[in-house]
Amino acid sequence: MIVRGEGVWLWDSEGNRYLDGNSSIWTNVHGHHHPTLDAAIRAQLDQVAHTSYLGFANPRASELAERLCGFFPEGTLERVFFSDDGSTAIECAVRMALQYRLNRRENRTQFIAFENGYHGDTLGAASLGGVGRFTATIGRYGLEVSHVGSIEELERLSPATISEVAAVIIEPLVQGVNEMRLWPRGMLAALRHWCDANAVHLILDEVMTGFGRTGTMFACQQEDVIPDFLCLAKGLTGGYLPMAATLTTGRIYDAFLGAADQAFYYGHSYTANPLGCAAALASLDVFENERTLESLQPKIARMTELLSDLSARHPEVHEVRQCGLVAGIELRRTDGSKFPVAERIGEEVCLAARKHGLLTRPILDTVVLMPPLCVSNDELEFAVNAIGAAIREGFGA
Ligand SMILES: *Cc1c(COP(=O)(O)O)cnc(C)c1O
Repeated sequence: MIVRGEGVWLWDSEGNRYLDGNSSIWTNVHGHHHPTLDAAIRAQLDQVAHTSYLGFANPRASELAERLCGFFPEGTLERVFFSDDGSTAIECAVRMALQYRLNRRENRTQFIAFENGYHGDTLGAASLGGVGRFTATIGRYGLEVSHVGSIEELERLSPATISEVAAVIIEPLVQGVNEMRLWPRGMLAALRHWCDANAVHLILDEVMTGFGRTGTMFACQQEDVIPDFLCLAKGLTGGYLPMAATLTTGRIYDAFLGAADQAFYYGHSYTANPLGCAAALASLDVFENERTLESLQPKIARMTELLSDLSARHPEVHEVRQCGLVAGIELRRTDGSKFPVAERIGEEVCLAARKHGLLTRPILDTVVLMPPLCVSNDELEFAVNAIGAAIREGFGA
């Protein structure tokens, strides 16, 4: 039972303290119980907690939409559709990408996604996913999706196939659920180029990578790429409340104007919830006031040092994959072979790390280290030491 939080720390019901090494499943950004976020939510509560966005607007949502679009050059991403979580941000992008084609009487109803990608658990989002253990049970009952493994494979698709594609979706820079696997540098820019050349829309799933995780506000900024749809969720409210946003261009927005059958019939009851918007605005304020992005670079460098040291000391650390303040530490046998899945080594190591004050979760045998961005160098060292101690105990050395 987790009962309390402060900064990067969480307390359980027995009074034990843990560093939140997984940012409460990749959501928390500035730490728990942050005074700015807390105050913003309280102030909004004194106004109103929730009002419907169907046919109405609210000031916090308008401000937030403006702030989010402000991260991108004028004439690019300038429209925002709010929803509730990562999966719905994706559903919304995919529905828009599809209906855009239908509204324009184009015969492009297929999607391309990447093998081992993860885009959420609702049916449409899950059908885009390429991680077998999440999608095997439901089969392929969702969208019509072709999965490719690389940009090279994409480039080999036949013109006939490409002519039916509405959009490509990708997690930029790093595939989170795929044990934190990084794309080669330049891949994202090459993908944007391919999309432009083939009149295919690009959907970026920045549900995990958004809001500073990879060292820049958004991962796409590292390769100067602007997508046609940008999906944001987890860190949007600083990890406080469930809320998501799908950003798109004016051009796509315009295709939904006019006759009633052109409209985007989509919306959730809690769309643009004012408390969520207030938290999100406060989180963006903290990015400015605490100079969060500037303070990140030295922490990222320190994390690299600490993890390379960990890897040098423990032969069971097969590979460390790091992108900004996101890291995956893959454990294997010392001969390089994988542990049998049934041994659940990753889980065992994470359970052992708890005794050393670190809370995190494995993905198979990859231990994830993704602390809130407010983590200090000392706290990073504490977290990596806990993983080291857990590995030592796990392998009885
Ligand atoms: C977590 C995640 C999602 C799904 O978000 P939910 O809020 O859990 O629905 C989608 N895409 C990526 C890349 C994610 O990490």
